[in-house]
Formats: sequence, structure tokens, C-alpha cells
Amino acid sequence: MYAQVIINFAKTQEIDRLFTYSVPYTLLPKVQIGSRVKVPFGQGNHTQIGYVIHLSSNPPEEHYRIKPIVSLFDEIPVFNEEQIEIAKFLVNYYGCSFAMALEVMLPPGMSKKPYSSFEEAETYITLNIKPEVLKSYIASKAHMKSFNKQRAILMLFLIQASISLEDLKKSNEVSPSSLSTLIKNGILRKEEKFIGFRKDPIHYDYFKKLNLEQTYAKDQLLAAIGANRYEGVLLQGITGSGKTEVFLYAICKVLEEGGSAIVLVPEIALTRQTLMRFKERFGNVVALTHSRMNQTERLRLYEQVRKGQIKVVIGPRSAVFMPMQNLKLIVVDEEHETTYKSETTPKYHAIDVARMRMIRNSGVLILASATPSLESYYEMKRDRLKLIELTQRVGNATLPEIEIVDMRKELKNGNMQIMSHTLHEAIERTVRAGNQVMLLLNRRGHSTFVNCRSCGFVVKCKHCDIAMTYHRQSSSLECHYCGLKEPIPSMCPACGSKHIRFFGSGTEKVEEYLNKHFKPYGIGRMDFDTTTGKEGHNKVLEAFQNHEFNILVGTQMIAKGHDFKDVTLVGIIAADQALYIQDFRSEERTYQLITQALGRAGRGDKKGEVVIQTYNPEHFVLEKIKFRQQQAFYEEELKIRKMLGYPPYTHLFSLTVLGRNEKEVIQMVHTLKYYYEYYNKKGLFRIVGPSAAAISRIADEYRWQLILVGEDREKLLLYGKYCLNKFINRENTGTIKINWDIDPISM
Ligand code: ADP
Ligand code: ZN
Ligand code: ZN
Repeated sequence: MYAQVIINFAKTQEIDRLFTYSVPYTLLPKVQIGSRVKVPFGQGNHTQIGYVIHLSSNPPEEHYRIKPIVSLFDEIPVFNEEQIEIAKFLVNYYGCSFAMALEVMLPPGMSKKPYSSFEEAETYITLNIKPEVLKSYIASKAHMKSFNKQRAILMLFLIQASISLEDLKKSNEVSPSSLSTLIKNGILRKEEKFIGFRKDPIHYDYFKKLNLEQTYAKDQLLAAIGANRYEGVLLQGITGSGKTEVFLYAICKVLEEGGSAIVLVPEIALTRQTLMRFKERFGNVVALTHSRMNQTERLRLYEQVRKGQIKVVIGPRSAVFMPMQNLKLIVVDEEHETTYKSETTPKYHAIDVARMRMIRNSGVLILASATPSLESYYEMKRDRLKLIELTQRVGNATLPEIEIVDMRKELKNGNMQIMSHTLHEAIERTVRAGNQVMLLLNRRGHSTFVNCRSCGFVVKCKHCDIAMTYHRQSSSLECHYCGLKEPIPSMCPACGSKHIRFFGSGTEKVEEYLNKHFKPYGIGRMDFDTTTGKEGHNKVLEAFQNHEFNILVGTQMIAKGHDFKDVTLVGIIAADQALYIQDFRSEERTYQLITQALGRAGRGDKKGEVVIQTYNPEHFVLEKIKFRQQQAFYEEELKIRKMLGYPPYTHLFSLTVLGRNEKEVIQMVHTLKYYYEYYNKKGLFRIVGPSAAAISRIADEYRWQLILVGEDREKLLLYGKYCLNKFINRENTGTIKINWDIDPISM
């Protein structure tokens, strides 16, 4: 037997290739595709860790002497065959090294330690007396006040005879000392159960009875799953139309047939609410992954998934690599979200990986969104995705009223505030009626900066080409890109004027306005500064849900996924901010963001209302939103993209040249362009730039960009990498760095 192996540190090109080793007789049965092995490599007796990619009984044609594998690194293979195929796909599709493609799939913590299968036990607390006598036992102690805490625990056991200790600890009613007393008295007992015992039946009674439109959508999905061949579906439905309920049925069908499913959701939507919707239906075969899991938790999950104990994984982008058994369905919820594209090598897009896996497994890919990406819309038009639509909101919920306010008129009428009269009145009306308000600001290009009224000077970061942001809490200026903190200048550094003041309208400024006018109704704020981590978000959102405050101000984070029955007004403070960013996707992003935000208004039985403030009311994006012409928006935007030769009609290969010396960077990027021109004799590709990047300096590094545009993705990738290699091999690039990306998602 011969094994072809990728060396695990092979990040440089020369050694990122397959090396052949022979498999010693003693290791023969254990070495499999996906195994991690120790192999001799380099000079002398050096060994390296490698991954087995192929096994074959034919000796290779290579001329050098073939050495044997030294030993196995783990007891069992770390990857299954499907994952090796995914790695190959990443290498071919994104042009990354094989070693990196493998690394991205390996749970952190496993890269250094050997992996062995383990059966983990969970502690359960089980009723130690007959269930029939539990009631009378509780009754017999009813008169004792000291029994109150014990009773609270025992009440839980009236419903379930055995509860995991972990779940008990999470419950507020459980006092640890009372629990030990009950165990000591022999009412309850502790026992260890292996996780492998988990086989939860599906709880059918939790499924909602679907309306007609949902039923039709569900039937089409079930048919697709039943067909047992690849199908891609675009499940397009306005927010609140019940998409989730529909794909829960699809998951159910897959489980009934012995398959498994992955559900990708944006990190921000990974809430307890989301998990509960899955848990109540599918019980303990469901697991969540998220960025705050520690290494042990990640390993444990990987192992349970690999063994098929977990059949439904809900998670962000990276969950798409999970080693599921018999994976038959991948759902990508809010598929238009940019977080599905990785920003570090391999710069994969989760939808691409999901599609590849479903094609391989003859499964179904569901892309769900109220506002699909233009790429997905285009795929649907070309019949590569089947469209399944939901056009109505569930139940009585109706679509909100939309009003667009021209802020130029407000200014003319002498209103210098950031809040129009219309929005102010709407807020007042809403909170007086006991309802709630969400106010949305666009974070990008929309923070409070310090600017001189006399000369126009804006305080920028010393290290980055970006205005510093004013923070009231710390009373300082901060750079959001490198973290620099500075005191606020008392006079203009440029002209000496004392008339230096705060400008713009960040969340803090809006909050200030609200505190002045609506304080008694309670005001909450959610942005990257107030809320650290997901728990922070959850806390704010839960407080809002409980009416601890009734007006929530925030950045785009608040526009996503949360269901608040009492929110009847959504205000968008400055709708057009994002339109001025130099990115050909800014119209698409603005459309998506505002439409998602609209979906937050009036989700219960109450009618919703939306006020959009803008300096640019004639813009086609706002017009299409106002008149709810979604298809017209997509068609118009497609026309523009086609005219300009941008995706989805073409592919992009972007290059960023980075360095501390601006002159050198500019010179390099021009030389680089020369290479691309030289090898573009047939004119297959368009070369855009070079130009300074949207943020031309970050942490003292200058950034220049070159963009290659081509219709043939494969050729573009080859061309992009080929010329870059030539350039790197021939030029003395010194300390200059060059990053590249194929199909980048932001400019
Ligand atoms: P979407 O994913 O399209 O935003 P959801 O599936 O989350 O929509 O549904 C929105 C709300 O309506 C949820 O609270 C959900 O439980 C409820 N819902 C959805 N479908 C039904 C139905 N057929 N009957 C009752 N409630 C439903
Ligand atoms: Zn000045
Ligand atoms: Zn900075």
C-alpha cells in the first residue's frame, strides 16, 4: 500500500503537494484516508505530521526512494473522505494551499493533540421513588416551610423522571443544597449516562399547522428531498412569512429518512430563541456551534457529530465543514449575509461549500432570505436555483406603512436636529400607546466625528485614513480600526479656532436626543461599544422584550432576526449613508438592510409603521422600497451590473498591496499592474486600478488595490495567481505584502 500525504505545515508552494510513502505492514489496517501520520521529511531523521489524501496499491512513478510512514498520530482518522473532498474543492476553487484547506476544517485544539474516540458520560439526576408516590410525598410535606426549595425541584420530576444535571443547574428553581438533600434522603439519585444513548423521537406536536402558501412551499421541499438528487432552492419570503417553520419540516423529513442536516445562521442570530425552536422539535440530536465555544466543547461536538449522535448542527459559517453522517440537507438562513464569506485564507464562501457538499451527497440546498443576494437571484433566473416563494406574513400581521422623509426640507424649515418632525411624532405616538420603537443607524460611514466649524478640519487617526470617533462614555476619541485613543482637542489643530465641535449622528447622539424627549419610556442602545459578545446582545434584547425600555437604538445588528411583538415603529435615521460608499454593492446592501429593518415593524397583530429619513429621497433604492417593488429593484440592479461588467455577470480577483512606505506601495502596485497587462495579451481580463483602497491606511500600513475582472472564473483564478507568482519571484518586494481574494464580497 502507498499513501499520498500532505505535509501539515506546507503553506509555501513548493511543498504543498502530495508526497508518497509506503504503509508498513503493521499499520496497514489503521491507515485510512483522512488519517494523520508521522512521516520522514527533510534532512536526517526529521519527521513531520501529514494527512493521508490517497491510498493506492500501485507504486508511484516517482524516482526517489520511497520511505515508509513512521507511525500513526491519532487512533482514528481526523477527517472522513467527504472532508478530504471538501479540501480538494477549496484548493481548486479558492486557490489556497492544501494544508490550509485541511486546517480550516480541523477543530482548534486538535491540531497539536492526538485524537481518539471517546464516549462521554453525562450526569443525570433520576427519580429514585416510584413516580406514582411522588405526588403524595410532596403533599405529605406540604406543611413544612423548609421543604419549599425541595418541592420546587421535585415538581420538575413530575414531568420527566430523569434530567441532566447540566439542565437542572440552568434552572433558576434549583438550589444545589436542596438537591443534595434529596439525593441523601434517597428521593433522587445520581447516575451516569453515555451520550450515545441519545435517541430522541421527533416531537411532532410542536410543529405549527402551516397556512396554504407554507404548505405548498413545504410540499415542494419534501418532494425535492424525496427525489434523492441534488436540488438548490431559493426560499424567498418576506420577514415573518414563516420560512423557518417551513424548513423545520424539511429537516424533519431528512431525520425521518435517517439523514442529517446543517443549518447556517448569522452569528448574531444564534440566540436561545433560535435554539429552542429546534430543540423542542428535535430534542437532543440538535447542537449549536458558536464562536465562544472553548476547545473542549468543540472537540466534544466534533466527536458527537462524527459518530452520528448529533444529527442537526446549527451554527455560523464554519459549521458547513461538520463531519455529519449522511448529510442530506443544508439550509443557509439569511443567505445574503456577508459573514458567510471568510476573510482569512482560505477565503471560502459557505454557500459554495454547501452547494458542493449537497451535489456530492445528492442532497438539498436551501438558501433562505427576504432579500437574496444578487448572485442568488441571478442563479435563480438561470434556473440553477428553484424559486419557492412566501409572499404573505403569517397570521394577522400586515405589512407596515412606509413613509420617506426628505431631510433637506426639514433643514429648510429650520429643523437642525437629527430627528425629523415626522419621526419625532411617530415615536411619541407609539410609546404613548404602550408600543415599542426601533431606531436604526448605519454603522458604516456613520459615526460621530470631531470637526472644526471654522476651517472644516476633521480629526483623523494618526495611523489610519479614517476619522476618529467620539465616545462620550470615555470622553475621548477612538479609532475603530487600530484602537488608538486620544483626548478631545480643545482647539482646532489646523487653525487654532475654538469652534471645534462634535458632528455626525452616531448612536450616542441619537440617544442623547431621546433622553431629552422620551426618557420616561426608557431608552436602550445596542452597538459594538455597548455590547461585548453575544451574551451582551442577548441581555439587551431580552431587556427590550421585557419592556425594561421601549426605544432601542442601534446599528444594523438590531435589524436582524429578532421577533418583537410590540415593536410597531421602525425609524431609519439616515438611510442614504451607505449609498455613498465606493463599493458597487452599496445599493444592494442598502436595499437589504432597510428591507430587513422594515421586517421588524408590526410582527404581532399590531400594524407597523416605518419612517425613513434621507437626503436623497429620489434614489431608486428608496423608491423601490417605498413601492415594494422587489423584483423591479433586482432587475434594475442587474441591468446596472451588466452594463458595468460587475458580478454576478463577472468574477473579480482583488489584490491589495500593503506597506509602510507609501511611495514604495504605489510603485509596487504599478509594477504589479504591468505584469497583469503583459500576460493579458488576448484581452480576456479587465484590469481596474490601481487605486487607494476604500480605507487607504490602517495602522500605518498604506493600502492600494488592483482589481481583475473576468467572465471565466477558472481562467481568472489561474491568471491572477500566475502573474502574482511571476511578480513575487522576479521583483524584490522587500517588506511589501500582497493579499488577494477571488470573488471578494466587499471592496
Ligand atoms: P421567517 O423565518 O420567514 O421570518 P418564521 O418562521 O420565524 O418566519 O415565522 C415568524 C413567526 O410566525 C414565528 O413566531 C413563527 O413561530 C410564527 N409562525 C410561522 N408559521 C406559523 C403558522 N403556520 N402558524 C402559526 N404561527 C406561525
Ligand atoms: Zn480649524
Ligand atoms: Zn487608527
